[in-house]
Amino acid sequence: MRTRLDTLVTTALQQGSAVPAFTCYDFTTALAVVGAAEDAGRGVILLVAPKTAATPNGLRLIAALRGLADAATVPVAVQLDHASDLGVMADAVAAGADSVLADGSSLPYEDNIALVVAARALLGSDVVIEAELGGLAGDEDRAFGADSTGTDGAGLTDSAQVEDFVSRTSAQLLAVAVGNVHGKYKGEPQLRWDVLQDIAVRTRIPLVLHGASGIPADELVKAAAMNVGKVNFNTELRTGVLSTLQERLPAHRADGENLQGLLGHWNTSAKAFAGSALGMLTR
Ligand SMILES: [Zn+2]
Repeated sequence: MRTRLDTLVTTALQQGSAVPAFTCYDFTTALAVVGAAEDAGRGVILLVAPKTAATPNGLRLIAALRGLADAATVPVAVQLDHASDLGVMADAVAAGADSVLADGSSLPYEDNIALVVAARALLGSDVVIEAELGGLAGDEDRAFGADSTGTDGAGLTDSAQVEDFVSRTSAQLLAVAVGNVHGKYKGEPQLRWDVLQDIAVRTRIPLVLHGASGIPADELVKAAAMNVGKVNFNTELRTGVLSTLQERLPAHRADGENLQGLLGHWNTSAKAFAGSALGMLTR
């Protein structure tokens, strides 16, 4: 059943859990993610990349994901990820997205606030808005090694800005930069739990951790205790699917160009990853 993102996340936090969110560039992955969630009896979030939402076919994918969410036996939300273009946000919501990450984190502070306020004015009160404060290194869609910013403090969310930012934007969830990066980590991820804790005491809205791929499970389980109710995964899911396809492709070509069989392995790989992430975040 399709469920509001804020309701899904708040309910999980009340149980000491966080909800995983997975970027779906295609319907095969989305089917696997929802299948894993149904097997686990837990809610899940389907993310759509802004580059996907900026195309006519991407908007049709959003409509398909909404249908999938409606038909699911567990709570599912469909969110437009990392959008800074108001036109793309409006199109994605019209196509069926329930929520939007209005991401002005790369902009100056006041411009970030202005973007979120403009998104709210445009999208109305029914759309759940996540905002982001602090710069996240790396590329959301491609896995280049990005430096964790946790060691030198550059790009970290400034906890002193959190109360002002949340009250002025009325954001319902807040994505933070605490040493997490998009894509692959160079070396060991260094999450700044001290900064996360400092943020968590300054706002009551759920926090969001992006770039969770590569953060060890024993670190991630601590997140919900710091009010992190949503954790975004992308790179590891792609790595698993691509490795599986590479390995299985020759045999499936030899087996009469068996695309259907290959898609079955795609499903199995994505479903296994989503299932492990669900297990990691669930208490
Ligand atoms: Zn992200």
